[in-house]
Amino acid sequence: MILPTVTPRLVYLHKPLSRLIQLKAAIVRCTESVIPLNPSSLEAQMDTVFDAADTFGPARVIHIHRPSLSLNAIVTIDNTACGPAVGGVRMASDVSFDECLRLARAMTWKNAAAGLPHGGGKSVIFGDPKRPTAEKERVIRAFAQAIGDLHDYIPGPDMGTDETCMGWIKDEIGRAVGLPSALGGIPLDEIGATGFGVASCVDVAQNFAGFDLKGARFVIQGFGAVGKHAAKFLSAKGAILVGASDTGGALIDKNGLSVPELVALKDTGRPLFDYVGGEKVDRDSIIDVPCDIWIPAARPDVIRADNVARLKTRMVVEGANIPLSLDAEQALHDRGVIVVPDFIANAGGVICASIEYRGGTQRAAFDYIDEKIRSNTHNVLEESRRTGVTPRVAAEALAQERVMTATATRRWR
Ligand code: NAD
Repeated sequence: MILPTVTPRLVYLHKPLSRLIQLKAAIVRCTESVIPLNPSSLEAQMDTVFDAADTFGPARVIHIHRPSLSLNAIVTIDNTACGPAVGGVRMASDVSFDECLRLARAMTWKNAAAGLPHGGGKSVIFGDPKRPTAEKERVIRAFAQAIGDLHDYIPGPDMGTDETCMGWIKDEIGRAVGLPSALGGIPLDEIGATGFGVASCVDVAQNFAGFDLKGARFVIQGFGAVGKHAAKFLSAKGAILVGASDTGGALIDKNGLSVPELVALKDTGRPLFDYVGGEKVDRDSIIDVPCDIWIPAARPDVIRADNVARLKTRMVVEGANIPLSLDAEQALHDRGVIVVPDFIANAGGVICASIEYRGGTQRAAFDYIDEKIRSNTHNVLEESRRTGVTPRVAAEALAQERVMTATATRRWR
């Protein structure tokens, strides 16, 4: 397939040379092949980037637009002090620029905390991920061409993209992680790398929350790649799934839902509501289900200041990226609820991707995930208990220390 080169329309660069001097340059490239920019919207976007920039990044923000292919995407390379940025490519109709910036930063902390030789980045492609395959392939391949010369960004799968999409990107530009096994990939969603790490995290956090995982009640919001595997690994440790949701609604059963039956439904492309048994309620009611462990594994910002009081749990382990607002995390912390932040709890996927990139095995990936997530969870919760700060503040300090150490070795910083 021959595709025309896609021209990046808007590029933002940021090199904080020192803490005092920052070089910021905005370069706007308009060509005949793209719709002319609206100057006022450009100004608004650049202000947003300038406002978001701090000592750590973002290093670069690239907007890619090709109307004839319905390709409209943003790539954020947040920080590359520890190495080339690794971060997922998210395709959804409701992704936002702000979401891309925040997710890229989360990847910077996640990769640093996990001790990986990678910085953080993220891409969002606006549009329906369920479009016909041929159309999706065209868009993904065009996106790949547009990021071909961004050598400090290695794309991976995220919501709306999968191993096949990464195979197309690898075919176009020679680099991607989360590849199909035929291309040397470790099928991280199939083996449940992130869900496995979430379960390791819960296993350590239970000691800080003062309950036993055996018999503990847990709830999963979003029964996809992360959620269903977390459910599987946690129920294998004796925990009981009392609530689960997908886009179609929520299921509740205080005596326990059958994890194998729910997994089988999702694996055959059916909604949770096809489950025989349990109470069926609207999907938002999953927030109200009393439990010991509440695991968000769907979308960002699901728990905020306006609904955090509804959570009746002793622990939140963030399987999704940025599922709680900062004020919601603080409110839970003040109530004595343990909240393990996303970039500690859900690092399993990117650890697996990084091991794949270096030719490692599935076994090596699982060993690293277990060891790293257990030690990070322990260190972060111990520091939070010692100092009274939220686990996120403790976790960011841990990650920032590594990024600062790596930054000190770099010529451009
Ligand atoms: P997925 O698309 O496989 O699953 C998402 C699930 O959430 C689906 O079951 C969907 O029906 C459900 N969902 C969507 N909106 C919902 C809503 N409002 N209420 C209830 N359910 C809803 O995605 P995934 O790979 O499991 O990723 C989920 C989250 O975890 C994302 O935030 C992603 O960034 C994050 N994450 C994923 C990985 C990974 O390895 N896949 C790694 C780290 C973080």
